[in-house]
Amino acid sequence: MAGAVAARKLAEEKGKRVLVLERREHIGGNCYDRPDEHGILIHTYGPHIFHTQMEEVFSYLSRFTDWYRFGHEVVAKVDGRLIPVPFNLNTLHMVYDGIVGREKADELEQKLIAAYGGGSRVPIMELRAHRDPEIRQIADYVYENIFLVYTMKQWGQTPEEISPEVTGRVPVLISHDNRYFQEKYQGVPLEGFTPMFEKMLDHERITVRTGTDCGEFLAFDKDRVLADGREFDGDVIYTGALDELFGCRYGRLPYRSLDFRFEHYAQPSYQDHSVVNYTVSEDFTRITEFKFLTGQRDTDGTTIVKEYPFAYTGAEGEIPYYAILNEENMALYGKYRALADGIKRFHLLGRLAEYKYYNMDAMAKKAMELAERL
Ligand code: UDP
Repeated sequence: MAGAVAARKLAEEKGKRVLVLERREHIGGNCYDRPDEHGILIHTYGPHIFHTQMEEVFSYLSRFTDWYRFGHEVVAKVDGRLIPVPFNLNTLHMVYDGIVGREKADELEQKLIAAYGGGSRVPIMELRAHRDPEIRQIADYVYENIFLVYTMKQWGQTPEEISPEVTGRVPVLISHDNRYFQEKYQGVPLEGFTPMFEKMLDHERITVRTGTDCGEFLAFDKDRVLADGREFDGDVIYTGALDELFGCRYGRLPYRSLDFRFEHYAQPSYQDHSVVNYTVSEDFTRITEFKFLTGQRDTDGTTIVKEYPFAYTGAEGEIPYYAILNEENMALYGKYRALADGIKRFHLLGRLAEYKYYNMDAMAKKAMELAERL
């Protein structure tokens, strides 16, 4: 998303000639999707659902694709039941009506509305600190049944230990909205992400070289970039891991990785939902069933993927998916950043290069802004 959007803007609107170097054999980064051997469109690097409130970003991307638009819903498997996530007032009733009775559950609902206001989004860590013990009790239920085990699997740490920004992505909703995201625009490119990026990169001033590590091409001489051994008088946007660029000289930046295990079933559906989170059991965090994400109907079978998190070590074949945001890691990142900042006309962009937890729309916006500035 970072590279393709920046490339297109620079080529089309700034008249630049752009060379895109991609280490993998394909474009699209982690948004890459392709049909599997059963003809089912899968997301190779995990489920990607686009969502944004930014008109500018949505309309820019819409130049390169139509959309399969849907309100993405997630459920969690808890005690053999599927309950809506984020935890919202519908979830409250599903869980509490049977325990305390409908009337008391209504009272709890009113209490939450009075405390936070209808429609508000409350981070779980905030809800846990509320002074009313009944609200804290709800918070404890949500913490234990939605956050604790899932977060331990995903990050190897408790919700207290990780950045509040991370659990804050999935707040408790004081509403009856079962959708995972609340933004106006949500869905996936109708034909897939890869065709959208193909179209974006299809421009007379853009050249794409896949299977090419930028290290084969780029070097630094003090504060200058060398391309093919000669001083380069253009801008370079780097979207890879920043520690790798500098030979990990200060040590590796920590990341969480995922092992994606795909399974195909010769049956119309596996779980009847696009995403089921396993928030209290199993070693995997979630199961995605692709045909519900992509709206694909021309197939009898179904393909799912299970996500098994682990600590990235930098070994061959591992992929650094998530930056682990904490003070120590940010300080280490800062050391690498200082090296990059010393290089003229060298720009860092993306989850890896900026060591950030970007959503796709924020990434597109950032790429648009950088291109504009250049
Ligand atoms: N999370 C959780 N239980 C859930 C969903 C999310 O504990 O059912 C926490 C978990 O720590 C996760 C974070 O919230 O890493 C952010 O979730 P999100 O779905 O945004 O993660 P992503 O889709 O980016 O992997």
